[in-house]
Amino acid sequence: MDTFKRLEMLRKFDNELADLLEDEEYKQRKTIGLIASENIASPLSTCLEGSIFTNKNTEGYPGKRYVSGTTNEDKIELLAIERLKKLFGCEHANLQSGNASIANSSVLMGLLKPGEKILSMSLSAGGHLSHGAKFNFSGKFYNVVQYGVSEETEQIDISEVRKIAIEEKPKIIICGGSAYPRLIDYAAFRKIADEVGAYLWVDAAHIIGLIAGGAIPSPVPYADVVTFSTQKTLRGPRGCGVILCKEELKNKIDRGVFPGMQGGPKADMIAARAVLFKECMTKEYSLYQHQVVKNAAALAEGCKNEGLRLVTDGTDTHLVLVKIPENIESGKEAELLLESVGIITNKNLLPFDRLSPELTSGIRIGSPLMTTRGAKEGEMNRIGHLIGITLKNKSDKKVLDKVKQEVDKITDKYEMFAKEWNPTDRGTIKN
Ligand SMILES: *Cc1c(COP(=O)(O)O)cnc(C)c1O
Repeated sequence: MDTFKRLEMLRKFDNELADLLEDEEYKQRKTIGLIASENIASPLSTCLEGSIFTNKNTEGYPGKRYVSGTTNEDKIELLAIERLKKLFGCEHANLQSGNASIANSSVLMGLLKPGEKILSMSLSAGGHLSHGAKFNFSGKFYNVVQYGVSEETEQIDISEVRKIAIEEKPKIIICGGSAYPRLIDYAAFRKIADEVGAYLWVDAAHIIGLIAGGAIPSPVPYADVVTFSTQKTLRGPRGCGVILCKEELKNKIDRGVFPGMQGGPKADMIAARAVLFKECMTKEYSLYQHQVVKNAAALAEGCKNEGLRLVTDGTDTHLVLVKIPENIESGKEAELLLESVGIITNKNLLPFDRLSPELTSGIRIGSPLMTTRGAKEGEMNRIGHLIGITLKNKSDKKVLDKVKQEVDKITDKYEMFAKEWNPTDRGTIKN
């Protein structure tokens, strides 16, 4: 059934949902989306998400299913794994997890016994809750020690990481996070892991698209395990956690996912990722990822030109952490103010933040989504200015109205998925 027919059917049966769907489409089109963990999913992959593959139970792994009739699903999963190996040069891959947090829990389940020690980056320094936060599965069942960033540089202090690792002898060391704007020295982390006999696990959820497109260095040659989401910079649909690992860890990782953490995977999710990984190997994709990095730098520059201060004073990746100016009380206030003019961001803890996670002293912004829509450096720089202008003039309705009008104009200029990034017959696929 095609999309139009599906919508028609929905409209006949459930006006409420049909209205919300239409309103959401309008909202996404008419706002400047800067949430660093969001993107517009590739039309090639969304056409398989929710397809008839969703009808199949595929519990188990290809060749070892607990149900019959899965020949096509077996072929697709093997193809997806082959493509992951080719794309990232890894030895083994598992893409059955329903999302990256489950993939992360599965890694712990597969490699550690409850109570064993994890060394990871703290949440406020930019780490992720699945790396041992107290209120997460990882923090409740494992012994967690954490490193932060240097107060002076706001970047990882590798000698500090080494010191803690030698003292604490963790079983696993995790690097990579959700709010760290700089590149990570994977070789240095590898050396420390070898020195203390720990596994090295890189959580590349945020930056994996940049890696796939060759815009920043890959952790795969250094890490025992790499995990990631597919909906962030990678530009796939939401959901699906991928684990890449060394051949010798294959069985532990696979068993950590199933039966360790979950039952049967979503076959349509896996099919949608299989085509996404093929798209990741195209020239258009690589150009897109390089543009994401250039656009983040331009966005950062625009903010700085307005006098805003940034964590680490800039970015090497797709994301920028902005310190809220003095006239703004919290990241929460900044987020709401920006939303009122049509700029969508999120409040975010900063290193050494004195405010709570509900308030925070910063906002996190990023370039992946607007780059997908077709924005280039000039526009991104201007958007940085608009953020600064909005924050500085929080009580000036005239100024805010003007910003809103400009946001309106900017969003009108772009499709949801720019033709130039579509590797098929450019633009004939509707998203
Ligand atoms: C987003 C993120 C995750 C979780 O991804 P989900 O697919 O939303 O579960 C895990 N680790 C890091 C570092 C992330 O940024």
